[in-house]
Amino acid sequence: MPLRRTGNLCYTTARDDGNVGDIMNIRTIQAKSILTPQKRGFLTAGEQPYTHSLSWATGCQFGKLYCGAFCYAQMLPNWHFARREGEAWGDALIIKENAAELLAAELARTRDRRAMRIFMSPVTDPYQPIERKLRLTRRCLEVFARYEDLDLLLIQTRGPAVADDFDLIAGISYAWLGMTIETDQGDLPYGPSQSHVERRLEAVERAVERGLRVQIAVSPCLPYSDIFAERILETGAQRIVIDTFAIGDGSRGRRTANSPFAALADYDWRNDDIAESLYHQLNIHHDGVAWSGAGFAGIPGRQKPAAIEPSPRDLAL
Ligand code: SF4
Repeated sequence: MPLRRTGNLCYTTARDDGNVGDIMNIRTIQAKSILTPQKRGFLTAGEQPYTHSLSWATGCQFGKLYCGAFCYAQMLPNWHFARREGEAWGDALIIKENAAELLAAELARTRDRRAMRIFMSPVTDPYQPIERKLRLTRRCLEVFARYEDLDLLLIQTRGPAVADDFDLIAGISYAWLGMTIETDQGDLPYGPSQSHVERRLEAVERAVERGLRVQIAVSPCLPYSDIFAERILETGAQRIVIDTFAIGDGSRGRRTANSPFAALADYDWRNDDIAESLYHQLNIHHDGVAWSGAGFAGIPGRQKPAAIEPSPRDLAL
């Protein structure tokens, strides 16, 4: 297994099934709440903002994989308050073991569920390896399945294991699957393995065949091959959102510049041209192509009609 080291961090590009739970510090807690209201920031940056996020863990089992090198969740206060001294991103996972029970209680007492637009999960991955053991995401989905009246649930993941729950997701009328696919090239020193790229593309195809609504998140957009746009289009995903390091990191590139990724990258990650080029290639053939934060917070819900997606140029003005 090839390893890439930067300082005291260690990343693998080959074993991105994330089967690293046995070397992580895993702790469980009884949390007091599970839905976090969203007032500002990335999840509210569009015409159809999220009202809440849902993360059943602090930390992520994918934290030592390539995406851990640029993961912004490791820069947020909830991680810094939850970790123990000396724990780096990917060293620990703090699990809210009562997540499903809290969700059931919080949905039951919410008066206007029709306005709820929930992003699961912005600071961890709902289909990291331990999900197969704990089934916390599945138990949360079973809670959502009891309600018909929310506006949106986006299940955002890099994990093809989401296929385990396709039947359950298909039964939630307001659910979308968000699959992150940053590139179709598996040989980059700072990206996913080729097998994981293929498994994610296949998972999207299967999800669409199963009748799910799917948004592919090319986020952040990494260098890609000449056929990436074609491969995305072939999946049949209903929406595609493209994001970049310089725009999508919420600090005009400062966070990325301070991340281990900046030392690994062998190209100008500040230049958005490759992402804009992919946007335009896709936009010719697909009317559900969206850009950056406005695109993430632009999935049409039941309460508001779909807005016209702003292009990268519109958003730059
Ligand atoms: S899967 Fe997401 S939350 Fe987990 S390390 Fe990668 S970018 Fe961060």
